[in-house]
Amino acid sequence: MSDAADFGFDTLQIHAGARPDPATGARQTPIYQTTAYVFRDADHAAALFNLQEVGYIYSRLTNPTVAVLQERIATLEGGVGAVCCSSGHAAQIMALFPLMQPGCNVVASTRLYGGTVQQFSNTIRKFGWSAKFVDFDDLDALRAAIDDDTRAIFGESIANPGGYVTDIPAVAEVAQEAGIPLVIDNTSATPWLCRPIEQGATLVVHSTTKYLTGNGTVTGGAVVDSGNFDWSANGKFPSMSEPEPAYHGLKFHETFGPLSYTFYGIAIGLRDLGMTMNPQAAHYTLMGIETLSLRMQRHVENARKIAAWLEADPRVETVTYAGLPSSPWYERAQKLYPRGAGALFTFAVKGGYDACIRLVDSLQIFSHVANLGDTRSLIIHPASTTHRQLTPEQQIAAGAGPGVVRVSIGIEDPDDLIRDLDQALEKATA
Ligand SMILES: *Cc1c(COP(=O)(O)O)cnc(C)c1O
Repeated sequence: MSDAADFGFDTLQIHAGARPDPATGARQTPIYQTTAYVFRDADHAAALFNLQEVGYIYSRLTNPTVAVLQERIATLEGGVGAVCCSSGHAAQIMALFPLMQPGCNVVASTRLYGGTVQQFSNTIRKFGWSAKFVDFDDLDALRAAIDDDTRAIFGESIANPGGYVTDIPAVAEVAQEAGIPLVIDNTSATPWLCRPIEQGATLVVHSTTKYLTGNGTVTGGAVVDSGNFDWSANGKFPSMSEPEPAYHGLKFHETFGPLSYTFYGIAIGLRDLGMTMNPQAAHYTLMGIETLSLRMQRHVENARKIAAWLEADPRVETVTYAGLPSSPWYERAQKLYPRGAGALFTFAVKGGYDACIRLVDSLQIFSHVANLGDTRSLIIHPASTTHRQLTPEQQIAAGAGPGVVRVSIGIEDPDDLIRDLDQALEKATA
């Protein structure tokens, strides 16, 4: 395709990055199930290894099927490049890797996916990195948490699972004042509901496992770069601005300009950390992403209907969905996420922990799984599963207290979903 700016989202989700296969004319993107690529000659091989020429060497770094998906996601997010990874959690490490050194920290929202809280609280310490968690609605606290060793701010557009929506333009302003990038996990919103780069984010990460693939088949992740951060401005990002010994002293930012972060992610990140997406996974995600906008419209429409029905039901205590006027973030969601506040929300059942367990066990259409963003409707009780490792305070801060269940509303007939919830609530609260 020519310039992406000439086309609408519905066209780009099908065509961006793809072209008929040059060898066969195959219209659908082939699964290039190969580990390595034959060099034209020894000079070609040397040029590829020196990063003097862009091309395929080995599928830990690049693969043509994965490359199509990378371009597709970068285009949908309005970025200049993307690196696909083996999972969403891999993408988070890959996003931070070019920015961080031992002793550096990331300032993160208190309202994050439970696995991310875990990764940031404990695991990244093994690299000598750390995280400070702050409430992103308190911009003074956010500013105060940033110190000389802070290299990124990290939040989620629509936070999973508490019904929180981040004021990305306000947080982006703080990041800009501090001269550090804002990283937004856009998994729950998808670029159909929110384009964080347009609102000031530098980097976007995804768990493609969720809505982008859309049908619960493969794990994957992506890191998208806006291409508009000046990595050489303040000496905080030596990986990008200083000579890289592994490539004969090449300086990534100076050499590759707006593509430097993406190239670093591939040439150093994937090369040495190996968190690579495989071409089969890329194929499934390419299949899914073609219908992203259609699915998201239906996900949101169903979520609105079901959230409103639950809120009016006497067996339900509260519903936290930013698409309902009762949400403290309703106005913000209307303004920043006008197509809808996603399809993921929590509700509290009268009867607390035990009623939640009975509800989960009584549903027939909803599946009890640790996943979200599937065509199928899903439910989980975070306090006994995904958020089990967190302290009760962390659970409540993340919107996943003991009396709360999280639903990921699918694209089935909404009346069937309501009937299912009705019968299960009857059993749960009997
Ligand atoms: C699932 C998820 C992740 C982690 O992604 P994986 O593909 O499971 O590694 C990160 N952030 C959010 C918001 C998620 O929903």
